[in-house]
Amino acid sequence: MSFNSLGLSDALLKAISKKGYTTPSPIQQKAIPPILEGKDVLASAQTGTGKTAGFTLPILQILSQGQQLRQRPIRALILTPTRELAAQILANIKEYSVFLDLKSTVIFGGVNQNPQVTQLRQGVDILVATPGRLIDLQNQGLISLAKVEILVLDEADRMLDMGFVRDIERIIKVLPTKRQNLMFSATFSTDIKKLAMGILHHPVHVEATPENTTVDAITQIIYPVAKEKKTELIIKLITEGNWKQILVFTRTKQGANKLTESMISAGIKAAAIHGNKGQGARTKALAGFKDGSLTALVATDIAARGLDIPLLPHVVNFELPNIPEDYVHRIGRTGRAGANGEAISLFSPDETVFLRDIEKLVGLNLPKENIKGFEPDPNASKEPIKQGQGRQQRDSTPRKPKTDTTNRSSNNSFGPRRPSQNNDRRSKR
Ligand code: AMP
Repeated sequence: MSFNSLGLSDALLKAISKKGYTTPSPIQQKAIPPILEGKDVLASAQTGTGKTAGFTLPILQILSQGQQLRQRPIRALILTPTRELAAQILANIKEYSVFLDLKSTVIFGGVNQNPQVTQLRQGVDILVATPGRLIDLQNQGLISLAKVEILVLDEADRMLDMGFVRDIERIIKVLPTKRQNLMFSATFSTDIKKLAMGILHHPVHVEATPENTTVDAITQIIYPVAKEKKTELIIKLITEGNWKQILVFTRTKQGANKLTESMISAGIKAAAIHGNKGQGARTKALAGFKDGSLTALVATDIAARGLDIPLLPHVVNFELPNIPEDYVHRIGRTGRAGANGEAISLFSPDETVFLRDIEKLVGLNLPKENIKGFEPDPNASKEPIKQGQGRQQRDSTPRKPKTDTTNRSSNNSFGPRRPSQNNDRRSKR
């Protein structure tokens, strides 16, 4: 299938071609036509599937064909959980709308609101926002959402995890009731379904599993390791493997800082990215990582959301996530766009419960390999770390882990095709 056959305008096709895309991704093939028809859409898709273009391209087409008001009221509102993701979506919109007369901007917290307010005053057709800052500006009477025609909830599951449900409800109350609603989520818990039912009207359901080539290209490996030897091991892996670009995940902000300091002491160019870092530091770290001046970017799950870093060869879980879905998000950072990728997890005995939950979710027994000199003590406690060491210090105030994965059939497809892994649930269907 080509982009031409999706019914997109010449201006958009030109922008797509300028961006170098030749074929629409599965989520784009499935989501663009119903969105163009004005239908509500509930999409199951995670970062890396091309979901952003899946909703921004048809929105741009609809808005460019609709009636343009002189004051440019906000006609499309895209809500997203993190500032990085918001900035990334805006960057995409700008690229796709380069041949259109549409204005777009982004608002998020953690930075001075004045430049954002100035932009809003000048009139924008499309607003990308994190819920907190949007409510803030709305409370101050600085923003009007009375003319919104299209609402997008991107990464809806993550917004719920971050406790944005009340904010979302408050925002929806001030929107016109007649509007088109699009909701994207990687997971479908009971809470997400409830939210969707309250917002969407007769939605078309679309689902995108990451492309098989991409999934096949991810090699997952677990290194059992004594907790106190994790830092030494990751430094050894990076230096001996001569790795050039590695994204490392920790569970906590403190963990990210500590590991980054150890890496720097070992001569590895590293930076941490998490919610306690100012926007400037985060942007700088990301830019350094992208241009190759940094070897390692150490991130918490929340901070990593929405980071658009294509073709990552290595993703390392320095600590396993306590929310199993985060594992899937993390490893989705490698093996993108057909490139080979390796997702490595350093697993200490106290994370036994986390690993069990992850393996249950992905439907695989992940391959484990001991590294000589780093093996954990077989008698070490398998008790999880105490409450407070993990979840309470995460990069947000998340709610209970979501384990309702009824609709997550796509998760079963994560994992290397190895003969030992014929417990992949898909093969039993
Ligand atoms: P997303 O899932 O929206 O975060 O997109 C993941 C990456 O895929 C981004 O770097 C996009 O620029 C890229 N992308 C989106 N659509 C396509 C496409 N049709 N062909 C190639 N790359 C794409």
